[in-house]
Amino acid sequence: MFDTHAHIHDPSFDIDRVDMLKRAKRAGVGRILTVGCDLTDSARALETARAYGLAASIGIHPHEAKDAPNDLAGALEALRASGVADPIAVGEIGLDYYYAHSPRDIQRDVFVAQLRYARASALPAIFHQRDAFDDFVTILRAEFARPMRGVVHCFTGDAAQARTLVDEFGLKLGIGGVVTFKTADALRDAVREAGLAHIVLETDCPYLAPVPHRGKRNEPAFMPATAARLAELFATNVEEIVARTNANADTLFGA
Ligand SMILES: [Zn+2]
Ligand SMILES: [Zn+2]
Repeated sequence: MFDTHAHIHDPSFDIDRVDMLKRAKRAGVGRILTVGCDLTDSARALETARAYGLAASIGIHPHEAKDAPNDLAGALEALRASGVADPIAVGEIGLDYYYAHSPRDIQRDVFVAQLRYARASALPAIFHQRDAFDDFVTILRAEFARPMRGVVHCFTGDAAQARTLVDEFGLKLGIGGVVTFKTADALRDAVREAGLAHIVLETDCPYLAPVPHRGKRNEPAFMPATAARLAELFATNVEEIVARTNANADTLFGA
């Protein structure tokens, strides 16, 4: 399994990171992408990737958009050129209107600047979108076109949104613990509608642990619970879920 969206460098793992990564390996999670949320956090993602043999991404989360530097591309390029580790994606970037941690106009500007950086550097993008679907799609229509690649991480939308993201933009949908939640019937419909060719697995750990671990600190070793729920959903076995989502992740990240 490939955990395409984790925050392994998060301080909540400082107490047991080595053991936690051993548990991940034992659970069949062979690859992990640790995702940056601002410049400092992205530097930490790169260092953690180098120390533990993970993949990393660099980017500024919409929550942190208000603190983004003016020369965003320059700052991201400096991180990329730091030589600590080679980032395999730009993210997480996007819009979050659920929490108002950064003003919406600043979120949009910072999102656009990072999309342009992703295009210029030929890196796939990891998108975070919450309660901002219309503006998100408007910006994609203006700034994102194939052969650019990307994933909408922690996708929790409906079937119509899934169709737009997959059909119009060729995006992958990152599916994590939420798909196991009892109340997530609309999401399960959307995932079925998107189809196995368009989803990748993620944890978003330390957040959003799947059932039966819900409410605990999440970690990659819990990912089999999500894969098992997807196997049920697609009336297939876990092996096929793993093989298909791994292949989708390879396409996404150009492995
Ligand atoms: Zn996110
Ligand atoms: Zn995240």
